[in-house]
Amino acid sequence: MGIIMDVRNCKKCRKLFNYSGDPLCPTCAKEMEDKFFEVRKFIRDNPTATMSVVAEENEIPIQQIKKWVRQERLVFSKDSGISIDCESCGKPIRTGRFCKDCQKKMTDKFTSFYVEKPAENKSDAKKSSKGKMRFLGN
Ligand SMILES: [Zn+2]
Ligand SMILES: [Zn+2]
Repeated sequence: MGIIMDVRNCKKCRKLFNYSGDPLCPTCAKEMEDKFFEVRKFIRDNPTATMSVVAEENEIPIQQIKKWVRQERLVFSKDSGISIDCESCGKPIRTGRFCKDCQKKMTDKFTSFYVEKPAENKSDAKKSSKGKMRFLGN
């Protein structure tokens, strides 16, 4: 047994690289990063440009722009009229993954999930993982 390296083809240039969660090799990732700043500047200079204009002018797939918007790295101005869909209800939003309503719903669910979870289960899980550690140590 040894360390298995996760080597993959870069999504863009198809070159092999050590995969670490990013579908692009370091070279392409750097290029993409430069592109991001380009696009961000373009949007600032052209606040009313539509998504397809931004994509065309910067030679970048719309999917990539949407991705940045989802990551909340790019924010379009109100005037641009550009929006992406809330991943939960499909309502148009300007940045992130969910609309405010869904975000709130999720936070509420999350909070109640933690509150409702019996405390016993948690300590049981802790105990068993400790037991495992001890066993491995021997
Ligand atoms: Zn590449
Ligand atoms: Zn929503």
